[in-house]
Amino acid sequence: MTKIYNFCAGPAMLPAAVMQQAQAEFLDWQSMGRSVMEISHRSKEYIALAETAEQDLRDLLCVPDNYKVLFAQGGGRGQFSSVPMNLRERGDSADFLLTGSWSEGAITEASKFLKTNVVGKVVMQDGLCTVPSITAAQIDQNSAYFHYCSNETVDGIEINEIPDCGDVPLVADMSSNILSKPIDVSKFGIIYAGAQKNIGPSGLSVVIVRDDLLNFAMPETPTFLHYQTMANYGSMYNTPPTYSWYLAGLVFKWLKEQGGVASIAQKNAEKAVLLYECIDESGFYVNKVHPDFRSKMNVTFHLPNPDLDAIFITESEQAGLTALKGHRNVGGMRASIYNAMPIEGVVALTEFMRDFARRHK
Ligand code: PMP
Repeated sequence: MTKIYNFCAGPAMLPAAVMQQAQAEFLDWQSMGRSVMEISHRSKEYIALAETAEQDLRDLLCVPDNYKVLFAQGGGRGQFSSVPMNLRERGDSADFLLTGSWSEGAITEASKFLKTNVVGKVVMQDGLCTVPSITAAQIDQNSAYFHYCSNETVDGIEINEIPDCGDVPLVADMSSNILSKPIDVSKFGIIYAGAQKNIGPSGLSVVIVRDDLLNFAMPETPTFLHYQTMANYGSMYNTPPTYSWYLAGLVFKWLKEQGGVASIAQKNAEKAVLLYECIDESGFYVNKVHPDFRSKMNVTFHLPNPDLDAIFITESEQAGLTALKGHRNVGGMRASIYNAMPIEGVVALTEFMRDFARRHK
């Protein structure tokens, strides 16, 4: 049988070892004769699981003690509304970097709660997408927060430089590159991420919030979305998505076994180099992102003629390389190569791409 490699942008593939463990203990978790999804989130066994998952995530990202780690519901978009609601009392406007579909989504949602100012935008320079640096001088120092998306999943743009926004809290949507490399959490006010790429299954999101930002929520903020309430209740004010949290915990353990984020970052860099080299050397495929901003998680590319797209998709699926179709807004192809994608998957993809280019040049 052909080995299948899943390049889906999200929900994305999970490590095989995690899935095997989940399968092995699906019906009988910790010899309780029940599935982990059938036990109370208030039981001592589940609370131990939840606390371990939080600690593992803290270890992996070196989260300082003055930050809370919250396990929320509602994915990435849930935080598009939660962030402005929770910071609204800090100011009546917020500043944004606009780099693609997801930062735009965050702006649209935030504009329901406060005034939104775009202080920097992705630009096309010599046919390549480039992102301007952000400095404190560009940010209104009275704004409630400054928001950017560190990896634009649809457009394949990754921002490695952390914006400097002075004393204004820096908020980052890291949905598609959290845990892919080390980050200095202390530079951020809030980091959030939907789970379905590098953390676990969909539905869950992780929010890392600095303590001094817990109490700026607008009065109308629903109680279950209020960061301080969530922190007070250990993210269990309402019933959490217990099975997703459990799987996230297994992924964190797996990541530790891989040597942590510094080690996975090296592997991610190797995978990305292989794929971008294949594109650049082909004289066939084109990537339209400036090399400084090329995503290591979502590699986008176009074929010379869009009429070939359907053939590429059919043939790649036949070769066991699934879900390579680009997002409907941008067309072309997209290979999502998150932490769980083994290098063998990327090698198989590059071999297929070289062969396809030879046959269709
Ligand atoms: N932000 C980014 C960077 C994303 O990639 C996504 C989803 N792909 C979202 C936000 C939205 O996440 P969700 O669908 O979980 O709301």
